[in-house]
Amino acid sequence: MKYETVIGLEVHVELATDSKIFCSCSAHSYGAEPNTHVCPACSGMPGMLPVVNKKVVDYGMKAGMMLNCDINRVTTFDKKSYYYPDLPCAYQTTQWFAPVAVNGLVEIETSKGKKNIRIKQIHMEEDAGKLVHDIREDMTHVDFNRTSVPLIEIVSQPDLSSAEEVEAYLERIKTLLRYARVAECEMAHGTMRCDVNLSVRPEGSDKLGVRAEMKNMNSIEAIKRAIEYETARHIDAIERGTEVLKQETRRWDDIKGKSYAMRTKETAGDYRYFPDPNVMPVVIDDNWFNEVKSTLPELPEVKRERYKTEFNLSDYDAEQLTKSIALCDCFEGAYEVCKSAKDSANWMISEVMSILNVRKMTYDMLSVDGKALGSLIKLVMDGKVGRTNAKKILEAMFEDGTIEPLKYAEENGYVMSNDTGLIEQVVKKAVEANPKAVADYKSGKEKAILAIFGSCMKELKGNCDPAVLKQILTDYVDKL
Ligand SMILES: [Zn+2]
Repeated sequence: MKYETVIGLEVHVELATDSKIFCSCSAHSYGAEPNTHVCPACSGMPGMLPVVNKKVVDYGMKAGMMLNCDINRVTTFDKKSYYYPDLPCAYQTTQWFAPVAVNGLVEIETSKGKKNIRIKQIHMEEDAGKLVHDIREDMTHVDFNRTSVPLIEIVSQPDLSSAEEVEAYLERIKTLLRYARVAECEMAHGTMRCDVNLSVRPEGSDKLGVRAEMKNMNSIEAIKRAIEYETARHIDAIERGTEVLKQETRRWDDIKGKSYAMRTKETAGDYRYFPDPNVMPVVIDDNWFNEVKSTLPELPEVKRERYKTEFNLSDYDAEQLTKSIALCDCFEGAYEVCKSAKDSANWMISEVMSILNVRKMTYDMLSVDGKALGSLIKLVMDGKVGRTNAKKILEAMFEDGTIEPLKYAEENGYVMSNDTGLIEQVVKKAVEANPKAVADYKSGKEKAILAIFGSCMKELKGNCDPAVLKQILTDYVDKL
């Protein structure tokens, strides 16, 4: 019998606001000393009262609009009760009855074509703290820096059916939310996390199978492996009776390549959701709604078309550049300074993107300032710095974001020499040192001169216009 996998995702995304969701503590504590970003509110002290951060609602709405959701004009917060040591209030403030956004749609594209994935809802909530187990063997420490950091949870309908579709869906969400500048969505940093709900059923059946929820996947690769493993486990259980499938939460162990039962899946009733009386309902009026709507970015597809018409870029160039908003920002910044779209695109695609690839960095990790790149490109266009040396400067700009290309070129001897006297001297010496190459060239082997050209360029440390050098060199040899 043929089976199909039915997958729904719950994606948690950390919103990139400066402060936490219900207090003014900084939301950015990555790498900070434990418990240094806490106050009575986010550490759950008695008598504390939460106040909603407006920016979190702005970002929640914006995320909803990017994913084609309807925005609930009255959105409320609820308590989700459970006890765990990283949750100081013994409940999480989340949204259950009236989440900020509902009924969305995300279009994905895979090798099988385009497909729409429905979004059930997006709700805003606070993150929990972190338990630290590796300081002492006999003790667990708790760090509340992360408590109340704002999250949205994006809940899809069970419309996904393969690891490839899941990957495309996560990438699409990441691209859209990054374009809207509401979130980083980097799984490696924990700013995007994903739980996978999976079941298996005979192909064509409309009845859902027994569902397992998988947690603890830290990368898209791990998610793909977990989906493949779990699908095989379910099919084995159905076909060969290897086990009785239960609705449960399972932990993925990426090293062992296996999933393990954690607990039988709790139902909503276990969490005793009820409206949080400490947080007033949030009413989104037309002004607020339109204000947020007016800040929506150009979608990647629209930007791609604009790059083609406005900058006359090829399909390929426009497609490459719009893969990430970080690439677009860098390209547009470079264009602003050097005024050549073609040169900016070429530098982005053949140099910047290949350095990112070599360094195994994602496009979103690009931190080179576009305007600085533009000044570097201009130095090359104006014949002040050779291309090879410009690449060395670009490499340095990846290391140090404060580098000014011209200053750096001057300090490191990368400025082109227009001193023809010096070039002639270098040519003379190189010709004398390579009598065989000269003889070969004279006897008709035109390429023989390239060896002399190369040694001159090396001697000049690349700081010479290749055309000028070639002219001086051929003139000199021809006169011999
Ligand atoms: Zn706080």
